[in-house]
Amino acid sequence: MTEAAHEAPQGALLEVDLAAFAANLAAVRSRVAPAELMLVVKDDAYAQGLTGIVTAAREQGVDAFGAFDIATGVAVRRIAGNGPRIFTWVSAGRAEIDAARAHDSDLGAGDLAFLTAIAEVAGEHGVTARVHLKIDTGLHRNGIRPEDWADVLERARAWQDEGVLRIVGVWSHIAEASDADDDAARALFDDAVAAAERAGFEIEVRHLAASAAAFARPEFRYDAVRIGAFCYGVRSAGGPGEGVLGIRPIARVTAPVVRVDTDAVTVAFGFLDGLPSTLAEAMAVATPGGERAVRAIDAATLRVDPWEGAAVGQRVTVFGGDAASATDLAERIDTVGEEILTRVSPLIPRVYH
Ligand SMILES: *Cc1c(COP(=O)(O)O)cnc(C)c1O
Repeated sequence: MTEAAHEAPQGALLEVDLAAFAANLAAVRSRVAPAELMLVVKDDAYAQGLTGIVTAAREQGVDAFGAFDIATGVAVRRIAGNGPRIFTWVSAGRAEIDAARAHDSDLGAGDLAFLTAIAEVAGEHGVTARVHLKIDTGLHRNGIRPEDWADVLERARAWQDEGVLRIVGVWSHIAEASDADDDAARALFDDAVAAAERAGFEIEVRHLAASAAAFARPEFRYDAVRIGAFCYGVRSAGGPGEGVLGIRPIARVTAPVVRVDTDAVTVAFGFLDGLPSTLAEAMAVATPGGERAVRAIDAATLRVDPWEGAAVGQRVTVFGGDAASATDLAERIDTVGEEILTRVSPLIPRVYH
């Protein structure tokens, strides 16, 4: 008896097209040059799988990663090895600062308490922490308020003179919702950088923009741009199309037929919360018999219209590939493509080709 005879039918898969990923990286990098691409890999690299994505990005020469939390930063260091800059900007406390130090992460600091903790941990270990100070440019999401900026610079100056930290970056995050708000944020950012330079800091890396502003507005690129979505081929909901941007989705989710009835075919999408149930009657899947409407979505299955020759074990494409993209689906229920992607259960295998 062969091994294959015992193989369970394959469940849902998230397939990542690495050639498309490489092409997106190239498109993004040529668009933002000479600014550096910092590839944002939060949420398990937007659900594409951290290990596969970081490995592929390194092969394409990506030298900077935006890792959100320190646990992700530590994982990126293990995958990427020494060399690339890893920037983390969310931390819960001193143990994490210590982990970041041990894995040579750059730390974003958006308040004096955290900056103080960084200085203390670095002092205890006799090391110099590399810090990017975050100015609050209007989002009010963890950042140093403009009125406190001068004081924080003064404290940072003392710690830098002591050798426990070095301010290597100034950064902020913008809403990318209106050009006027973004321009106001940029003016505050420029003031903050100028103040840091007047205070004697040599700022290596100024970074403000994510995907949308980095693409549309050259003056937002500075030294580096933190980009996730466009590298994964996820365009902004309601924004320019993939053709205009020169990117394409890299993820395709496929799933097997598990039951065929005369009026419906059942597809096992996988695990809880795989797709918002509000997409029922608002999406189609690509089947061997062509596109078929999805009539119902529950925790683990989709019920779709039947096709000639439908059989258990056939595979359908749920999104990506020949079916609608994650962002296409997102737009129908008023959300963003990242939301569709990051709901794909981590239990669904990621495969790369
Ligand atoms: C997620 C994130 C980004 C990347 O945004 P995209 O729109 O996916 O390119 C950049 N900066 C910060 C602070 C983020 O949290």
